[in-house]
Amino acid sequence: MTQYDDRSSKNRFATIAVGAAEIETHPHRGGTNDVVPPIHLSSTFEWASGDEANEHVYSRAGNPTRAALEEQLARLEGGDHALAFASGMAAISTAMLSLVPPGGHLVASDSIYGGTENLLTEMLAGHFDVDVDFVDTRDPENVSAAVDSETDLIWAETPTNPLMRLCDIRAIADIADDYGISFGVDSTFASPYFQAPLELGADVVVHSTTKYLNGHSDSIGGAIITNDETVFEQLAFAQQVGLGNMLSPFDCYLVARGVKTLPARMKHHEENAMAVARFLESHNRVARVYYPGLESHPQHDLASEQMSGYSGMLSFEFDGTPLELEAFIEGLDLFTPGASLGGVESLIEVPSLMTPDEVSHGEATAEIPETLVRVSVGLEDPDDLCEDLRTALP
Ligand code: PLP
Repeated sequence: MTQYDDRSSKNRFATIAVGAAEIETHPHRGGTNDVVPPIHLSSTFEWASGDEANEHVYSRAGNPTRAALEEQLARLEGGDHALAFASGMAAISTAMLSLVPPGGHLVASDSIYGGTENLLTEMLAGHFDVDVDFVDTRDPENVSAAVDSETDLIWAETPTNPLMRLCDIRAIADIADDYGISFGVDSTFASPYFQAPLELGADVVVHSTTKYLNGHSDSIGGAIITNDETVFEQLAFAQQVGLGNMLSPFDCYLVARGVKTLPARMKHHEENAMAVARFLESHNRVARVYYPGLESHPQHDLASEQMSGYSGMLSFEFDGTPLELEAFIEGLDLFTPGASLGGVESLIEVPSLMTPDEVSHGEATAEIPETLVRVSVGLEDPDDLCEDLRTALP
């Protein structure tokens, strides 16, 4: 049981999500009694000694609005500690740079967000001489085969962006335990509502809060949650001193506000995604749909086991030429073509067309088909969403 126990019941989760007033680090409890933790913009805090000493000294090192959000995120994820970063990439790079020394060894999933892949190949391997092994983490045996006593970190994303592949968190956590190394999981696609990697044995959980946690496409941010005291100290040092890449007070406020409706939004995202996935699966210009909630997903059983729901992300292979695909995207009214995901509005992205830098994958990583379409299903009426797709599909 962790400090913020019992998040497993969904009611409890919703209570935690809404309960900003219960946050112990809420700076105005007993003072002005705000229900919502206020935005503290001050970069510095008056110094005092002894009993008068202020909890906060300088906002890079610690800020009351950030502290309140970090406590809220730790509770949601069932962890002891959380840190809020300036972006998801800031969180991921901080974890990797802190936990893997120059010349170290990192085993990563071969299906992973393109930005993370670039970080691994360009910075970790390129600048810090880290030996990065990409493996197909759908089979834990591949992880076992790549890890040795010199390995520093195992890194996986589940479900993955954009191929919607899963890995067995518990099985990989057991491998990491056998070698006494850390296992980090990017759980952005699932959100803390549908997946709890720490409970399954992961050491570090990362989110791009830009996505579901904030949920309204108006803030870039990231978070790390961990129960490991030593890891937390390392990451906190990097955030507050070494890299200084913490989340601003205003963005902390936005994310904290978004979190309150996370349970309500995630249920709705999932319902809509299921409707869209089933519609796409029945369409003759769609070759294949990748949604963990569909029985046809090869890892549907694993998804049902380790997730409490299937979230709002899916991808599909369009059956047609790239030109026809572009015409389909242009013919959509409700789905906005664009990067990012997890907001209330539906977004659609063709990685090969819109984010080619992120799909110029080398041979070490999983191929992303040219006509793959990624959909972030929003909160619009599901019939309207399916109708929009029906009208635009050739
Ligand atoms: N992790 C995943 C799974 C993502 O999809 C993204 C961005 O799309 C990131 C991390 C990076 O997050 P950010 O854009 O907030 O830096």
